[in-house]
Amino acid sequence: MNFNYSPETEDLVRRVEMFFASEILPRHREWVQEVGREGQAPSFIKEIQAKAKSLGLWNLALPDLAPDEPGTRLSNLEFAPIAEILGRLPWGSMAFNCHAPEVPNMAMLQSIATREQKARWLKPLLEAETRSAFAMTEPSVASSDATNIETKIEFEDDMIVINGHKWFSTGAAHPDCSFLIVMGVSDPEAGRTAQHSMVIVPINTPGLKIVRDLRFMGWTDHVAPIGEIKFENVKVPASNLLGIRGEGFKGAQVRLGPARIHHCMRCIGLAEMVLAQMVARAQERKTFGRTIVEYDTVQKWIAEARIDIEQTRLFIQRAAWMLDNSSDRNTWRAVSQIKVATPRMLQKITDRAIQLFGAMGGTDDTLIHHAWTYSRWLRIGDGPDEVHLRQIYKTEPLPDWSIADCPYIAPSAA
Ligand SMILES: Cc1cc2nc3c(=O)[nH]c(=O)nc-3n(C[C@H](O)[C@H](O)[C@H](O)COP(=O)(O)OP(=O)(O)OC[C@H]3O[C@@H](n4cnc5c(N)ncnc54)[C@H](O)[C@@H]3O)c2cc1C
Repeated sequence: MNFNYSPETEDLVRRVEMFFASEILPRHREWVQEVGREGQAPSFIKEIQAKAKSLGLWNLALPDLAPDEPGTRLSNLEFAPIAEILGRLPWGSMAFNCHAPEVPNMAMLQSIATREQKARWLKPLLEAETRSAFAMTEPSVASSDATNIETKIEFEDDMIVINGHKWFSTGAAHPDCSFLIVMGVSDPEAGRTAQHSMVIVPINTPGLKIVRDLRFMGWTDHVAPIGEIKFENVKVPASNLLGIRGEGFKGAQVRLGPARIHHCMRCIGLAEMVLAQMVARAQERKTFGRTIVEYDTVQKWIAEARIDIEQTRLFIQRAAWMLDNSSDRNTWRAVSQIKVATPRMLQKITDRAIQLFGAMGGTDDTLIHHAWTYSRWLRIGDGPDEVHLRQIYKTEPLPDWSIADCPYIAPSAA
């Protein structure tokens, strides 16, 4: 394992940092004002995206980017320090076309879409000319066990008919979202994991209705607004089947690695941003004749946050390196481990930051509340903690001795 970056990657990180400082951060106040007024991402994002693209700072999160696809191909490990920078702001990743759910959807389309599907659906995503959403979760079933999904996908002659109800489809409520990737039951008689298929559904197909925009703990995802959707006899051509019929879970697996690891990388950026604000605030505020930073409790919070961030960063780099080099069960175990550890780390730090900031910490004026909500939803989205913990437990190697002949147990002389 070698975490040293090549001179080319270091140069790229430096260029992303400069772009972030000169083009993105100075416009954050404008972003906040506009999303507050209009409820959606301001149009200046297009202008920033065009600049980023012209500088080669584009599609940095796709390790399998083909030579004829726009952007700069990086491994997961190389993307890690960049994702951190982009993660500092809710909309940082979007400026470089590195945001969710587009990246995991693009990775999946790269892997399993037909040539025609790539031309029609992947190409515009790579150019940020359109938006997409992944619709798996349903309100009426426990979706953390995806085999519960009930939406019906029926093949009739050369058409596919879809009936069902989805929610928490990130990005579906964005005005530019043009298609959904829908998971549903196509083969109810097959084995438990061979019943589901995925279908590409244009958002304007008759019978498809966005019922409402969803918020999570009062937080609106302005980059990819979350939709609840109903499907009533929605018909699309059979050629919209994505991947192999009955292999929906296998196909969707491709999007899980990048989706999870990128969220974790962004969390490190958020944690660094929050910690820097904690340090600054604690040095400026005074209570009972001392600056807050002089109190032991606060020094301990700052020091512990530093330890937590550094160890989680290394943990993520290890998982990224593993994902770059294999996709065996150890790799999935490593991804599950960071998926549990990282939002917990961010939640602990932001909870202390809210405390340290006092009332201001709970307002919309700082990004601390965003970091807190991000950490909280990530403990549920992309697989709740408990499901990952179960996976980690199941892959824990068993010792080849029983307790009775455990070589580490020595009966005492008494
Ligand atoms: C902000 C946000 C964005 C999302 N974006 C998307 C998206 O783009 N597309 C999409 O399809 N979905 C999305 N989701 C949905 C998300 O993936 C699901 O919420 C998640 O899989 C859990 O499913 P559920 O909500 O049905 O909870 P349930 O399945 O009902 O689970 C509830 C709880 O049961 C417990 N539990 C479950 N299994 C176990 C177990 N094995 N052991 C112990 N306890 C267990 C856990 O505590 C779990 O949190 C998003 C969710 C959020 C919050």
